[in-house]
Amino acid sequence: MQFPAEPFRIKVVEPIKITTQEEREKLIKDAGYNIFSIPAESIYIDLLTDSGTAAMSDNQWAGLMLGDESYAGSKNYYHFENTVREIFGFKNIIPTHQGRVAENLLFSNILKKGDVVPSNIHFDTTRANIEYHGATALDCVIDEGLDPSNPHPFKGNMDIEKLEAAIQKYGKERIPVIMITITNNSGGGQPVSMANIRQVSDVAHKYGIPFFFDACRFAENCYFIKEREREFRQKSVLEIAQELFSYGDGCTMSAKKDGLVNIGGFLAMNDDEWAQRITNMLILIEGFKTYGGLAGRDLEAIARGLKEVLDENYLRFRINQTRYLGEMLDEQGIPIVKPVGGHAVYIDAKRFVPHIPPEQFPGQAIVVELYRRAGIRAVEIGSLMMAKKDPTTGENIPPKLELVRLAIPRRVYTNMHMQYVAEALGEIYRDREKLRGFEIEYEPEFLRHFTARLRPVGNE
Ligand SMILES: *Cc1c(COP(=O)(O)O)cnc(C)c1O
Repeated sequence: MQFPAEPFRIKVVEPIKITTQEEREKLIKDAGYNIFSIPAESIYIDLLTDSGTAAMSDNQWAGLMLGDESYAGSKNYYHFENTVREIFGFKNIIPTHQGRVAENLLFSNILKKGDVVPSNIHFDTTRANIEYHGATALDCVIDEGLDPSNPHPFKGNMDIEKLEAAIQKYGKERIPVIMITITNNSGGGQPVSMANIRQVSDVAHKYGIPFFFDACRFAENCYFIKEREREFRQKSVLEIAQELFSYGDGCTMSAKKDGLVNIGGFLAMNDDEWAQRITNMLILIEGFKTYGGLAGRDLEAIARGLKEVLDENYLRFRINQTRYLGEMLDEQGIPIVKPVGGHAVYIDAKRFVPHIPPEQFPGQAIVVELYRRAGIRAVEIGSLMMAKKDPTTGENIPPKLELVRLAIPRRVYTNMHMQYVAEALGEIYRDREKLRGFEIEYEPEFLRHFTARLRPVGNE
């Protein structure tokens, strides 16, 4: 049986408001054709992100009632610490309220101006936290990882030659840490192989450089390893995770992904001296070391979530639900990034609406139409979100890819919802010549995609 049937049944339901097309047309127009400005209540299926949007289990909700809110030494902290140590194996475990705080704490303590941090592809918050310290975030993903139609099974892999060349060029003194993002979010949720992790670890340790994971989607990555690397077919996902982390020296983690919770994160590492310094700073900005900006009950939910996420029936459903949506789009001829990654399906907007040039935001045309017709929220990852300003001419340079991301929250939507999304996109694709581009009416100086206002081209 290939059909990814849900390995859970529904005990509590959250009704979703159904809006009419007329209502949605008004809402999206009033929002300046910016999907971030639509009230979430008026969205039928929200595929904006898989971060912090998971449905917790009855076991996690029950755990919330067992929250021990003691300021220091909460029993939930010890449960959390033991769980993280069992899976990740690192010695020092520091809770934080989100992944980016883990990044901030790490980089604030180890980076100085002029340093370089190589990774496969840095996630935006990681890059921003590195650049904030005057250091360079260097992407070293394999070339296949940048080609939307290359079927390579591990498109998140690091290019070992690029990594070696970076170490030769900058010198190991300027590289305080090497990172790798599993799965590679900014590269389409593509996995990294165990073989590649062993190689990166060997290179890092040959030069005495610590090796850290950005571990947000570690369970999804380990499931792909089990599926695609022969050596691991008979291993449990827990065993795969334990081996994977044994090659590193620490990790940053947003528990809002594979922690199966709505808020939380942590930083873990073997080095005692780094951990001591970081813990002192944690107390300054997040809270005492046994809660780190979270409630005791939140730590309990993370501890339980980290065990549930390794359930292979869950992971089989998770990975196959995402793939199922991708296949339904592919069968209708809709251009998508292949192979489908772990947490999202990406539509190739350049091929979907070739008549809309990058400066008229082809991805946004699809995003707006998807909401207008079907109440679905997706997000543009293209020239609206990612264009960089040329420092001399001030003109916008569009990114290489124009994508629309459909990120799938964990355990939230059924396969019937996925069919609905596929059908809506199929209709839009068949009518694609009618789609029109957009132009900017207002844009702020930074991160314009969040608050920009747009208008359809030709509507003054
Ligand atoms: C979400 C994410 C982060 C940041 O985590 P937050 O909890 O949102 O602060 C870092 N890296 C990757 C790969 C992510 O997906």
